[in-house]
Amino acid sequence: MYIRPSLAIALNFSSQCIRSCVKPAVILWLASSFLVHANSKQASTTSVTSVPTVTYQYLEPTSAKDKKAMQLIKQSDAINMVSDISRQHVQFSPKLTIVFGAKDGPLYDPGIHQIQIPYQYINDAMIRFTQNHYAETGVDEVQATLDTLAHTLLHELGHAFIADRDIPILGKEEDAVDNFATIILLHYVDNSADIAISSADLFAFEDQDIDTFDDLDFIDEHSLDIQRYFHMLCLIYGSNPDEYKSLLSEIDDGSRQEREDTCIYEYESISRNWLRYLN
Ligand SMILES: [Zn+2]
Repeated sequence: MYIRPSLAIALNFSSQCIRSCVKPAVILWLASSFLVHANSKQASTTSVTSVPTVTYQYLEPTSAKDKKAMQLIKQSDAINMVSDISRQHVQFSPKLTIVFGAKDGPLYDPGIHQIQIPYQYINDAMIRFTQNHYAETGVDEVQATLDTLAHTLLHELGHAFIADRDIPILGKEEDAVDNFATIILLHYVDNSADIAISSADLFAFEDQDIDTFDDLDFIDEHSLDIQRYFHMLCLIYGSNPDEYKSLLSEIDDGSRQEREDTCIYEYESISRNWLRYLN
């Protein structure tokens, strides 16, 4: 995982990452505010609607935990961010519905043009961040969980956008929408690297739970969690190599320069291609 530096705690981890290992601490200092800001970095000049093109539904929670999750979501800036993005850059007509409290998910159902997010998703993320003492990094588990919610909503929005516009996907769609979510954050959302890093770290935590891989892991529609983790860091680095110089410090010295160069290329290539479809 990419562990943010803490002013109070210096975390040091082994540098070799195998299964279940903890990755090294890094030294990058990031801005102290980790809130998702709805303000766009860039004002769109074309086809901006005055209203969001997504709508939200909250199903009745059936437990105290779920009720708390619902309240967190409702107060989250992630909702404002998605509304803002849907107004300016990723417009849907008819409106896309996002349902919180669904039984399954996170997922996008093209048959009913609906994103579904269970409250359990929030509860599970919160547990993982808490168990890994994430607050010691300077970002508490609530903010980290809401960061991952923001990225996950954009990921599902990516599925909806691909279906809605019939965008050609030459490769794994799950990888494409991971890229979509990260590129949207990096281009249009303030403090986006913080949001993306929390999301990447959740993949790293999930990866640590795996002792051995089986065939289903390799044939899964998603890339491995650890691949998703490193690829997100790669794109963040590629978006601003000077600012995020330390992000790839987990890579062996001998290979790092080559990967850094590749990440810059990948960020530019993926950005250029997704931006063809965004306002
Ligand atoms: Zn997906």
